Amino acid sequence: MPLIAPQHSPAAPIPIHEGYAPVCAWPANAGVQWGDGRSFTCSTGQVTGSPAFFEAFLRNESGVWFRGEAPTEPEDRGIEKAERAAFAKFEKYLGCGDDHDWVRKHDEYSTVARCSCCGATGTHAVAAKERTVSSDGPLTPSDLQHLMLGLLHEDRRGKRDHGDQLNRYFERVYAAIEIRAERQGFPLPDPTMDQEAYDAICERRVARFWVDNRSACEDIWNSMTPEEQKASYPPYWSALDICCLDDVAKRQGHLPDLEEPSAPGMGR
Ligand SMILES: [Zn+2]
Repeated sequence: MPLIAPQHSPAAPIPIHEGYAPVCAWPANAGVQWGDGRSFTCSTGQVTGSPAFFEAFLRNESGVWFRGEAPTEPEDRGIEKAERAAFAKFEKYLGCGDDHDWVRKHDEYSTVARCSCCGATGTHAVAAKERTVSSDGPLTPSDLQHLMLGLLHEDRRGKRDHGDQLNRYFERVYAAIEIRAERQGFPLPDPTMDQEAYDAICERRVARFWVDNRSACEDIWNSMTPEEQKASYPPYWSALDICCLDDVAKRQGHLPDLEEPSAPGMGR
């Protein structure tokens, strides 16, 4: 018997389709949920809306899941058809045994992949490549944003948990920021300081640093090729970072002449 999502329990505050019981032989490690979709008949007689669906998530290493859909009809809500469609995908998946041919769906940093043989999608099917973090070069606008937002402070004090992989990534990001900051004579506040005092010191230092280095940062961005700009991660010159840093500089009484921040080349 699969694990049925809590929203389908009659005891749920607002039970959803609690009358439906799965009909296929799902394994015990599958979590399942469903919906009967919604259909509308237009004045032209055309039926439109979202189809009934059934989803099953295997609690295995690959995080494989299956979704079936079926037209919603008044006399047959379609959930069972949707479930059978999902189950057919599951059976096809079993046909591969342990020999799936996982093809990464997004970039190399994503763990989502699709098997080219059975068509199954797994959210953890492939190992992600960990992003490299360089401590070379000067402080970037993104570094300053990290400093400004107090994220560095919170992470240095172990107050946030992003999950294993991201924790490792952020550890390297912050270590790199600390190295760059030190090299550039940007004193980082004491991480044991309380958040409010830390934020106030950071804001003052970031504003001052930004005023002194804004055009140098812009020069670096302009000297990059379009390919390098595209590949920079986090984006070196992002509209959001620049606007925030300009605002901070203005708030701290700098940049009096800067009415409009210059249009960044790349946004995020
Ligand atoms: Zn497969």
